[in-house]
Amino acid sequence: MTTMIPYGRQDISDIDIQAVVDVLRSDYLTQGPAVPAFEKSVADYCGTQHSVAVNSATSVLHIACLALDVGPGDLVWTTPITFVASANCALYCGASIDFVDIDQRTYNMSVERLAEKLAYAEKIGNLPKVVIPVHLCGQPCDMVGIQVLSQQYGFKIIEDASHAIGGKYRGEPIGNGRYSDITVFSFHPVKIITTGEGGMAMTNDAQLAKRMQLLRSHGITRDVTEMTHAPDGPWYYQQIDLGYNYRMTDLQAALGLSQMQRLDEFVAKRHIIAKRYDQLLAGLPVITPWQHADSYSGLHLYVIRLQLEKIGNTHRQVFEGMHEAGIGVNLHYIPVYRQPYYEGLGFKVGHCPEAEQYYAEAISLPMYPGLTEMQQDKVIKALCQATAK
Ligand SMILES: *Cc1c(COP(=O)(O)O)cnc(C)c1O
Repeated sequence: MTTMIPYGRQDISDIDIQAVVDVLRSDYLTQGPAVPAFEKSVADYCGTQHSVAVNSATSVLHIACLALDVGPGDLVWTTPITFVASANCALYCGASIDFVDIDQRTYNMSVERLAEKLAYAEKIGNLPKVVIPVHLCGQPCDMVGIQVLSQQYGFKIIEDASHAIGGKYRGEPIGNGRYSDITVFSFHPVKIITTGEGGMAMTNDAQLAKRMQLLRSHGITRDVTEMTHAPDGPWYYQQIDLGYNYRMTDLQAALGLSQMQRLDEFVAKRHIIAKRYDQLLAGLPVITPWQHADSYSGLHLYVIRLQLEKIGNTHRQVFEGMHEAGIGVNLHYIPVYRQPYYEGLGFKVGHCPEAEQYYAEAISLPMYPGLTEMQQDKVIKALCQATAK
C-alpha cells in the first residue's frame, strides 16, 4: 500500500529533536528561558519591538481582539476565505463579525470591496472597530491600501499572518508591524515553522504587548508597578484583568527556536517547488497562483483553480480522483459564513460571490519543504488524469 502524499507536513531535524530533549532534561518545562528566547528570535527576524508567544494562533487572535478592546456592540471584519479562527475571535469577545469579499487574483481581502463596504457602513453608522486581513497562502494583502482606509475610517488592523512567516511585503519582513497594530503567526505543524501547537503576536506597541502578556496568563501580574496597591509580601501577585491560560511551553518554544534557524531555507524550498509546479502545470486546464510583484510569499499553500469549462469532471470528481491516486489534496477554504454555525447567525449564500466562485474551483496541491520531485511528478500525473476530458 502506498501512503498518501499529504498537502502539508512539518520538517523536523535531529537538531530540533535535541533542542526539545534538552528542555526535557532541564529545570523548566514551561515558563523557563526558552519562551523569551523564541520570542526574541522571531522579533529580531521580523524587526518588531514586541512579541508574545502563546499556545496557538487562535489564542493570539482572541487576546489580540481583547487587547484592542473588542467587545459586545463592536464589529469586526475579515475575509471569508480563511480558517474559521480568523472570524471566531470576534465572537469570543461578544462582538459581531462580517466578511469582505476577495480579490480575483490574490484571493486575499479585496481593498476595493473593503472601500465600498466602509463607505456604506459609514452612512449607516456601522463601521468596524477591527479589520483582520489574512495573508492567504503566505501572499501578503495590499497592506498599504488597507492602512490608508484604516486612517480614513479609524479602525484597527490585526494581520492574520498564520501562513506568512518568512515572507516579505515591499521588501520587508511580514510581521514587522509597519502596517498593522498586531500581527499573528501560527506554528501548527502544517504551517511554515512549527512548535506542535503555538502562535505569536507581534506588535510595536508596548501597551498592547503588555495587555496580551497579561491575558495569556490569567490576567496575573507580579510587576509591582502594575499593581493597584503595594504587595503584601514577596509571595504576592495580583490578578488585574480576566485572562486565560494561553501560555506556550518551553518544549514548544525550544522547537520553534530551533526551527527559526531553517526558516529562510524552508521558504526558499517552497519557492523552488512552486516554480516547478508553475512549469509542470502550464499545459493543464488550471489557474496557477498569481504572485504580486510587491511580495515574497511564504508559500504555505499552493492553490490551483480548475478551469471547469475545459474539464470533463466536476470539482468534486477531480478532488476525489486525486485522493484515489494517493494525493492528499485539500481545500482552503470553505467560505467561513457558509459554515452551519455562521448560517445560524444569519449569513446567506451569495454574501461574497467572488469567494463562492473561488470555493467552487480551488484545490490545494501538496506543498512542504520535504516534497520530492518524484512525489511532485506523481501529483502532476494524477492531476492530468483527473482533469482529462
Ligand atoms: C492555522 C490558522 C489559524 C489558527 O492557527 P492555530 O495555531 O492552529 O490556532 C488561524 N488563521 C489562519 C489563516 C490559519 O491558517
